[in-house]
Amino acid sequence: MADPAVDIQGVTHRYGEHTALRDVSLRVEAGRLYGLLGPNGSGKTTLFRILSTLMPPTDGTARVFGTDTTLDPVAVRQALGVVFQEAALDGGLTVRENLRFQGALYRLRGAALQDRIDELLARFDVAERADDPVEELSGGLRRRVDLARGLLHRPRLLLLDEPTTGLDPAARRSFWRALRRLQEAEGTTLLMATHLMDEAERCDRVGILSEGALVADGSPATLKGKLGEETLWLDADEPRALRDRIEAQFGVSTRLVGARVQVAPPDPPTFLASLYEAFGEYIQSATIRTPTLEDVFMVHAGTSPEAPRGRVLARGGSPDESS
Ligand code: ADP
Repeated sequence: MADPAVDIQGVTHRYGEHTALRDVSLRVEAGRLYGLLGPNGSGKTTLFRILSTLMPPTDGTARVFGTDTTLDPVAVRQALGVVFQEAALDGGLTVRENLRFQGALYRLRGAALQDRIDELLARFDVAERADDPVEELSGGLRRRVDLARGLLHRPRLLLLDEPTTGLDPAARRSFWRALRRLQEAEGTTLLMATHLMDEAERCDRVGILSEGALVADGSPATLKGKLGEETLWLDADEPRALRDRIEAQFGVSTRLVGARVQVAPPDPPTFLASLYEAFGEYIQSATIRTPTLEDVFMVHAGTSPEAPRGRVLARGGSPDESS
């Protein structure tokens, strides 16, 4: 069988006393789009640094298409491209000059480089702006030029670290179209860190990192399916007390997820009626719904994926803090 694009086995990484990755094992099959989710500080960038050979892991192994990142970093770098949050482009140079410069770093030159630049600019709809300075481009166009830059040397694996941060919805959509075209035209494997749930939904497989550990790994459908077909979410002033009461009285298992109580009984509507009868005064509101990827994230990471950027809305629709 072909080597997986990424094969991480038992990787632990420490910065001094601080453990940023704990025994992480993860595989990404060639040609797939894998989304890495995790709150800030969960270790995504550390994993990317290891994969892109910027540093060896403290423990464990990381392989890219079968090649160990520590044993043969040059071969690994040849096989992968990176698109990180900050565009690696020189604003004062034109689009084409930036790409030529990048090509030179990979010893590409002459007609082969020219053709590759033209091909990528056409594919990502930036050909018309080839001779404009990058600083005159919108954020969305710049991102697509950065994508072209990361792909010049035809890497088989592309690492993307929250690549759509700061883009408006239209620019995000066209960036995603560009990724799809890339996957289809060149079979490139994509490993993307994101905190956006709608982006994660589009991935073939997602992994959730929490405090340096991989706490969930599977297709979005599988991960959601594991939470049950329908679950009940309860908001309460004192969620912990409500959980204890429910468990004591009904003997069902519950989860405390952030400030909410999650219950997955066999018949949620009937169960909810009994709950209201017993503890109605403690329940602010209740929702029954099929699990979303956000629920999966909340259950495994114990926090909302959006948490670093704002507060959960209070019931009744009024935000308790401006976002
Ligand atoms: P993420 O990309 O998910 O936000 P990081 O990989 O950047 O997470 O960080 C994981 C943890 O390691 C965090 O607690 C962060 O503070 C810590 N960390 C990251 N880089 C360094 C560093 N160079 N030195 C010390 N600690 C670091």
